[in-house]
Amino acid sequence: TSSPARAHQLPEGSSGWVRVRGAREHNLRGVDVDIPRDCLVVFTGVSGSGKSSLAFGTVFAEAQRRYFESVAPYARRLIDQVGAPEIDSLDGLPPAVALKQSRGGTSSRSSLGTISSLSDVLRLLFSRAGSYPAGAAHLPAAAFSPNTVVGACPTCHGLGVGRSTTEELLVPDPTLSINDGAIAVWASRGWQGVNFRRIASELGYDIDLPFQEFSREDRDWLLFSDEEPTVRVNVREGGNDRPYNGTWYSARNYLMRNYAKTESESQRQRLEPYIVVGACPTCNGKRLGQAALSVTFGGFDISELARMPLSRLCEVLDAGLDAQSHGVDEHGAPAASAARALVKDLGVRVEAIVRLGLGYLSMDRSSVNLSPGELQRIRLASQLRSGLFGVLYVMDEPSAGLHPADAAALYEALQQLISAGNSLFVVEHDLDIARRADWLVDVGPRAGSEGGRVVHSGPPHALEHVTDSVTAGFMFPADGPRRHEARTAQSWRHFADLSRNNLQNVSVDIPMGVMTTITGVSGSGKTSMLADIIERVDAQNDVENTPQRIISIDQKPIGRSPRSNLATYTGLFDTVRQLFAKTAEAEQRGFTASRFSFNVDGGRCPTCKGEGFISIELVFMPDNYSPCPTCEGSRYNPETLEVRFEGANIAEVLGMTVEDAREFFAAVPPVRRALDALTDVGLEYLTLGQPATELSGGEAQRIKLATELQRPTRTGTIFVLDEPTGGLHPANVRYLVEVFESLTATGNTVIAVEHNMDVVAASDWVIELGPAGGDRGGRVVAAATPADLLHHPDSVTAPYLARATG
Ligand code: ADP
Ligand code: ADP
Ligand code: ZN
Ligand code: ZN
Repeated sequence: TSSPARAHQLPEGSSGWVRVRGAREHNLRGVDVDIPRDCLVVFTGVSGSGKSSLAFGTVFAEAQRRYFESVAPYARRLIDQVGAPEIDSLDGLPPAVALKQSRGGTSSRSSLGTISSLSDVLRLLFSRAGSYPAGAAHLPAAAFSPNTVVGACPTCHGLGVGRSTTEELLVPDPTLSINDGAIAVWASRGWQGVNFRRIASELGYDIDLPFQEFSREDRDWLLFSDEEPTVRVNVREGGNDRPYNGTWYSARNYLMRNYAKTESESQRQRLEPYIVVGACPTCNGKRLGQAALSVTFGGFDISELARMPLSRLCEVLDAGLDAQSHGVDEHGAPAASAARALVKDLGVRVEAIVRLGLGYLSMDRSSVNLSPGELQRIRLASQLRSGLFGVLYVMDEPSAGLHPADAAALYEALQQLISAGNSLFVVEHDLDIARRADWLVDVGPRAGSEGGRVVHSGPPHALEHVTDSVTAGFMFPADGPRRHEARTAQSWRHFADLSRNNLQNVSVDIPMGVMTTITGVSGSGKTSMLADIIERVDAQNDVENTPQRIISIDQKPIGRSPRSNLATYTGLFDTVRQLFAKTAEAEQRGFTASRFSFNVDGGRCPTCKGEGFISIELVFMPDNYSPCPTCEGSRYNPETLEVRFEGANIAEVLGMTVEDAREFFAAVPPVRRALDALTDVGLEYLTLGQPATELSGGEAQRIKLATELQRPTRTGTIFVLDEPTGGLHPANVRYLVEVFESLTATGNTVIAVEHNMDVVAASDWVIELGPAGGDRGGRVVAAATPADLLHHPDSVTAPYLARATG
């Protein structure tokens, strides 16, 4: 039977439909749609059109709600608080897993190894298949973890850092003899200094020899030995022999003992200059005890393997597997085959991550230093091995941060999940992935109240004739790509010897007054280059005192609590609060502008303290927010809500979209300017009070850009952006390119890290880093205008750029 929700046939291989009826979450307008299972479904549409509201807010949220209901009756209360999605019915829904780009919120103790569980497998491998020193007993897997008592280095307790000292600190002037005070840490006039000089002399050291003339061995013994010999010291005092037994401590042991033992603050201060805090001297920063570190695989200890790029780790595992299959392994046959299975398993897991373009990362990379796109791809790779089937994966722009040259592997990984018997719903802007999908759901046609409908649900090719789809115009362009004439620079700025992370003493020239894009495969060093450039400009400003403003506009959240939002961030809320304070109603009640703030007591709701939400914790899930029961999400107390400006109360203003607010505040220039700027960057669909915690990285970045744009025109500013098109539909990208063009037209400079070829094509200068990621990258492969880059023999970008420039 046919229904308005279904205009096309079930694709081959699909077992049936997920049937959505009457979806009204956020801006969705009673959406009825049938979406096939067991295949790759891509959701497209301009930002704010409602893709996430449909894929995550409706389909995933409902699947999750049902899951909780089935496994944990007690969770019902929590579900009631979070609220079920606004929907009439949803049938044919498999259990769902969301792989969403998390916006921060990972703990600083977690690393790539822990979130992917590679660490557990590696420890097991070392326990069962490592090479042990002759006679050593095999250790349990826990002994290879610095977070266990058995595993941790006894000196630093697994922290990897500790207090130590150096020869230079202990002996600041090596031309002096011991007698003249070469070993400065011995307070030379104190009894201990005299004592150690006597003992050294008894032990046969020439205490009148300049310290630098001792052999290496002697110097090491005097300074660092752990030996503590006791010798008879002969002293003549007042004509009498007064021998005593003295015990020797090396200069380091003397220092460390005294520092640890002393209760005198002045003694502590005297010793401090001789101490450095650095890698723990016992484990060299490897965090593990000696027993664990003496076990190796392929010639490396476990911490060395955790530190190396995953691509190199793959090679080591392969070599290890070869060695074992040739019988080099010292274990008996059954043990060896279990070991082989472990090595193989780890190899497959690591390779899955490497193939997603992340071979430049290492297992010990802290998760706080991973981008949201990297995190999501690591989780995706882990899922490839999970063995789950019959699951619906809902994903959020898996191509984020990927150069088109890396995207082929991503597509393969997605296909692999489908072959294993799963369904994939992916929100994605990358048209290459959209074209290769089995099914396309285009939401829109535009953002907010002008979106919220399913414009197309069917095979991608059938989108071509859907007239009201904004996406169709980009997937099937009628006219060729926009041509861009590269503009000439006002001047060039030279940056020499950039060497952050993997950059190999790179020098680049960047044109001022125009736009430069930095591109290259992931891990090639683009973000590192941007960070170095910012640092150099800042440093130069300090020296020359002629500041050239440099503004970095990144994807970090504009705030971490629901109390931050775009109205507060852009500053427009200050003006709005003043408008409310000036109403007759407010003046009569004595309400000042601060009464309308939800950041201070007074006008705000006392229960949620102005957040409008209360935070609730759900097991297995990140913190969730649910509407405050007292103010029902309005953030304010009832008296404050009675005050109205032009008919709207303060909570209603915060509930307006940028678009509606533009009309409402048309006569208030400072507010209008901010709203215009937000519209220019394609955020007209956001509500003024939308909490920072609900904004994507791309939205946060564009709010920051808009905040800069609303300021009175400036010239001579350098705008620095890292992947500004993240989360943007091609239609929004076109807008953004216009914003960049207007910035450069007024004498500013734009430098952006970008994978989007439309942006690269529209820039005036391109720097391509590569050739690969990590150690194999960090060099400038090409620096040219987009037109010249097309003919560059070493550029991996060229073929993709050629498609964008026609
Ligand atoms: P897309 O994924 O296509 O960018 P969204 O589904 O995120 O779009 O947003 C669609 C509409 O719903 C927008 O107008 C947006 O402002 C609104 N919206 C999104 N999240 C929320 C929310 N948590 N509360 C209220 N409105 C929201
Ligand atoms: P791109 O932006 O091209 O993807 P990055 O500049 O982020 O590349 O990374 C370049 C190299 O530097 C990679 O090998 C990466 O692992 C390394 N790197 C990046 N950030 C850090 C960090 N915070 N700590 C250690 N290494 C890092
Ligand atoms: Zn240690
Ligand atoms: Zn409240």
